[in-house]
Parts: sequence; C-alpha cells; structure tokens
Amino acid sequence: MFSKQEILFISDLHISLEKKEITRRFLNFLQHRARSAKAVYILGDLFDAWVGDDDNTPPNKAIKKALKKLVATGTEVFLQQGNRDFLLGEQFAKQTGVTLLGDYHVIDLFGTQTLLTHGDLLCTDDVAYQAFRKKSRSAEWIDNVLSKPLWLRLLVSRWYRIRSHFHKKGKTLEIMDVNQQAVLDMMSKYQCLRLIHGHTHRPAAHRFRVGDSSLERYVLADWTKTKADVLCWRAEGVVAESLI
Ligand code: MN
Repeated sequence: MFSKQEILFISDLHISLEKKEITRRFLNFLQHRARSAKAVYILGDLFDAWVGDDDNTPPNKAIKKALKKLVATGTEVFLQQGNRDFLLGEQFAKQTGVTLLGDYHVIDLFGTQTLLTHGDLLCTDDVAYQAFRKKSRSAEWIDNVLSKPLWLRLLVSRWYRIRSHFHKKGKTLEIMDVNQQAVLDMMSKYQCLRLIHGHTHRPAAHRFRVGDSSLERYVLADWTKTKADVLCWRAEGVVAESLI
C-alpha cells in the first residue's frame, strides 16, 4: 500500500476574496499534491485577514471544506497563526480537523529537532509592531474584537489592510527582516539546529555556525498570482517545489 511519507511546509498565502488565483491553487493543492503527504504545516498568514471563526464569507467555506476532506484522507494538517490571521481559533480547528500550534513549535523532522514559527516574533527591530502584537494578543483585546458584529469586523479589517499597506511603505527593509540575535536566542532556547519560518517573504536557506554547531534557517516563500511554493521534506532531503 502507498504510504504517506513527505512533510510539506507552506506559509503566507494571504488568501482573500480578491486573489482568486491563490485560492484556486490552494484548493488544488489540498485536493491533489497534499494528499501524498504525511503532514502539511501551514506556518501562518494562510489568510490575508481573519476576523473570527464565524466568518463564512467566500472563500472561507470552500477552504474549510477542502481542509476537512484532506484531513479525512489521513494527511495531518498543522496550523500556526500569522500576524494577519491570529484570530484563527478552536472553532476553525474543530470545523476543519486541523491542529492549531503555538507561536513556537518543535518537531522531529527526520531526526533533526526543528523549530517552527510564523516569523513575525523574530522581527524584533520593528518595535512598534512588537508593541501592537503584544497588545493584540491579550484575551481582553481579542474578546473585545470578537464581541463586535461580523459586518463591523469585516469593515474594520478592510481598513486595517489598507493602512498596513501604507505603513509598510515607510519602513526600511532591514526592520522588516528577522533579527539574527532573536533567531539565535530562540534556536538555543528550544535547542534546535534547524528553524523554518515564513512572514518575511524572502525565501532562502541560510546556513551559519555557532561554536561547533552548524545551524539552518529556512524561509518559506509567499504565494502570489503567479507562484505557489511548497517546501517538501523527505528522508533523503529537502526540495522546494513550485505548484502549477
Ligand atoms: Mn506575516
């Protein structure tokens, strides 16, 4: 019997109603490519915005359904929240069968302890963002937002996305990348020689040494209208795949 072996990693799809091509590619990925995988890890910002698990406006329903179908085939799906979709919660997990992971999660990836995170927490040079992040992760802030009617949350979310677009324009590229010391601190804290994250939209495989240890940092690619990249791990090694 055909057995599922591969572990797939994706992040930063930024799915929204307007970007139909990305939704199409993701649904196609869930229906075909992902089925041969043992597990799929989605490391945040699957959605460009998430205003609460009660939002079933398109394309959310279709995506939930496709995730559920994939999980039913025996492929495990793990999900981390990104900075755009940090309101993804237990109800979404229940409806889809995906497993929510914390901000930092360690897996044994074919024998190597590997740290998974979205990546925004590593961008410590962006002090203003880190302050907002801290505030917006409190139970009080979240309860307050989720207590608002859905239509209002959707409206506010549109406004935030427009605002965030202009904010980013004013920030330097360095500030929006990870801080190397933060990377080293977290890898040491979680005792991992390998880190996989997204968020920065700067796909790469970085290698560096600390003392006698050789460390790796893999950055996942964001999805765009024209490309959808998947990092595929097998016992033999890793390959970056581009989906059609
Ligand atoms: Mn992000």
